[in-house]
Amino acid sequence: MNRAVKTLGYFAGLVGLAAALSLFFSGLWGGKAEKGGMELFEVSPGMTARQFARGNGVPEAALAELLGAKGAAGLDEPLSSYKVDEGKFFAELFKRKALWDEEGSKNWRKIALKFALWFVFLGVVFALMRAGRITFGLRNVLYLSAVAVFGVLLGADPSPMGTVKDAIALYGAKHLLFKPRFVALAVFLLLTVLANKFICSWGCQLGALQDFIFRLNGGPDRRPGLLRQFKPSFAFTNTVRALFFGVFTVVALGWGFDLIGPVDPFKFYNPSEVTLAGWGLIGAVLLGSLFVYRPWCHLFCPFGLVGWLAEKASVFKIKVNYDTCVACEACAGACPSTVMGAILKRGRTVPDCFACGECIAVCPTRSISLAAGRRALPPPGKFSGLGLQKP
Ligand code: SF4
Ligand code: SF4
Repeated sequence: MNRAVKTLGYFAGLVGLAAALSLFFSGLWGGKAEKGGMELFEVSPGMTARQFARGNGVPEAALAELLGAKGAAGLDEPLSSYKVDEGKFFAELFKRKALWDEEGSKNWRKIALKFALWFVFLGVVFALMRAGRITFGLRNVLYLSAVAVFGVLLGADPSPMGTVKDAIALYGAKHLLFKPRFVALAVFLLLTVLANKFICSWGCQLGALQDFIFRLNGGPDRRPGLLRQFKPSFAFTNTVRALFFGVFTVVALGWGFDLIGPVDPFKFYNPSEVTLAGWGLIGAVLLGSLFVYRPWCHLFCPFGLVGWLAEKASVFKIKVNYDTCVACEACAGACPSTVMGAILKRGRTVPDCFACGECIAVCPTRSISLAAGRRALPPPGKFSGLGLQKP
């Protein structure tokens, strides 16, 4: 059978199976729906503070604090008898309720499990990469495992992207800062500062899926004739990504609207929540991944942009030993993006390196490693005149 047809067949099988299993597992986790938190409170004449608390899902201790009552025991007076400024009271209650709803919408046990598994999985991959043990086959197994565990089994939330997107969207819509989300963002950024975009490469459920699909369209031999792949310029992809981030932020803060929400591609792992437009975008991103490396990450993902900036301070990064390097440029050709080309060309702007380790695997003189410390510049002229980044 024609290789292109085979590739498309594998692609359709993988996407269909992942979506079907995600539908099953997202149901198993109980599918706690995100609540709006904007409901009005129900108040009836003569209602006591305790009745108000119970009827509106407000914790009694918190209500007592807001009303200036003597603990939960002091809530048996009619609500109207407490000496508080009604406007301020409801404004504060409204804010707190939105945070309680946000907290109540999360499955905290699942989130704790996901972070624990992330640490273990990323630790194992990091050790394998440092030892130069990630082969083509193992890389695919690892990406598939990340898709299966962090996406299909454990769902769309949390994700690196969500920590940035949802924080901006929530602030824009309700003027709220949800602290646990900032803790998660700090963890993801710390991981990025430790080892490039390791969390994006190996941990993000959508990133790993795009990566696997990209590699589905390029066998270990990378023979041409499958389906042609492209390496768009970083100037183009990063400009689109920065502009999109700007528009998303302005719309979220100015109009309280989450532009990504209705078409969020992470919802692929929670198919029952995907809209028709969402399926359109997911289809485009996944199909596009056959031809371009991680289109969502490079063109739209808010964490993609933030992580790229954080990556500049990475402790561990891809480094080349120019003493043993024979300037064959196999690494630049094998790099799915334009990163290795920029490194060898002494480019001032180095694109997102997803620490995939492909360059390490193909180097014939073992001159590339994921190592700590500053990245040395290549000797001037060492790579000039050669055909960098030929696909
Ligand atoms: S850049 Fe890609 S891998 Fe990183 S959070 Fe966004 S979608 Fe995931
Ligand atoms: S192949 Fe490219 S993206 Fe992958 S680790 Fe090497 S430089 Fe980074």
